[in-house]
Amino acid sequence: MNDQSSEDGMAEVKDVVILGSGPAGLTAAIYTARATLAPLILEGDGDPTGDQPGGQLMLTTEVENYPGFPDGVLGPDLMQEFRKQAEKFGAEIVSGGAVRVDLGQRPFAVWNGSGGNDPVRARAVIVATGAHAIRLGVPGEERLVGHGVSTCATCDGFFFRDQDIAMVGGGDSALEEAIFLTRFARSVTVIHRRNELRASRIMQARARANDKISFLLESRVVEVLGGSAVSGVRVENVLTGENATLDITGLFVAIGHEPNTSIFKGQLDMDDRGYILTKPDSSLTSVAGIFACGDVQDRIYKQAITAAGSGCMAALDAERWLRETS
Ligand code: NAP
Repeated sequence: MNDQSSEDGMAEVKDVVILGSGPAGLTAAIYTARATLAPLILEGDGDPTGDQPGGQLMLTTEVENYPGFPDGVLGPDLMQEFRKQAEKFGAEIVSGGAVRVDLGQRPFAVWNGSGGNDPVRARAVIVATGAHAIRLGVPGEERLVGHGVSTCATCDGFFFRDQDIAMVGGGDSALEEAIFLTRFARSVTVIHRRNELRASRIMQARARANDKISFLLESRVVEVLGGSAVSGVRVENVLTGENATLDITGLFVAIGHEPNTSIFKGQLDMDDRGYILTKPDSSLTSVAGIFACGDVQDRIYKQAITAAGSGCMAALDAERWLRETS
């Protein structure tokens, strides 16, 4: 199989095109490459509301719960190893990411951000485009992104040396990133909308034991203040409605993620939050020949290891489907 010219003169038809290069996409690449399907991986361009090259582990520091690394491993280092392993078996990785798909055509057509007008053609497509960080959607936030507002502590923490900053969110991400930020910042105020944190006990214990971290609970940020850079946030107490200003120069937001599925709207079945629906115990989507894996179809677990496992499932499903249909 592999690359072939089709009868109507199309340049090249790949057996498998994989959209996304995080743990799910690269695991699918390792498996399909070992099955001699010569997968082409289209990886995102780092747009903050889209598919991140290497996936979200590129935005983390130490990963302590990925099996096989008892001393932990840096997220970017782990992804570098995934990539090397995929390339070793012949996977080709191209940057640019998918910007449009036509899943009504056979072979499927995928337009790559840096590929011009001609689509890539594929018999099977594995969707592993992941998810991106949600923003608060309050006045001042969008304008001050990159000027004190960030969704990536590991990318931007360094810029806040000896400053007073805040982190919004009560989950594991918010606390893990708040702890990381104390390496640089003078103080980190965790702002959370309830009086109970969602994060795991171990993470809560670590955050509470950190002298630089304080908590502002039952509070929500209603405005980010500042002209050319963040100078504070206006915070509302959710019980009393009272407003107060917190003087900070950096605002980090870690309130969850949403799937990168906009280009599949109307073509693949999704749930009300935009996650691609897969058939039970499989990676099969509503379109035969299209498979989904990783955070793009995972509303619940969202772990690197579960993404990798589902990437393996998608590769095996795609391999079987190609065998049965060609
Ligand atoms: P999450 O668990 O969904 O937590 C999101 C937090 O943001 C919640 O506390 C939520 O508040 C808050 N929130 C949501 N929308 C908000 C809004 N509009 N305004 C203000 N606050 C808002 O997300 P996550 O922390 O990114 O974690 C995702 C998954 O990855 C979890 O399963 C987590 O355990 C895992 N994870 C694990 C580790 C680790 O083990 N080292 C590290 C990071 C993440 P409510 O609590 O009120 O809903």
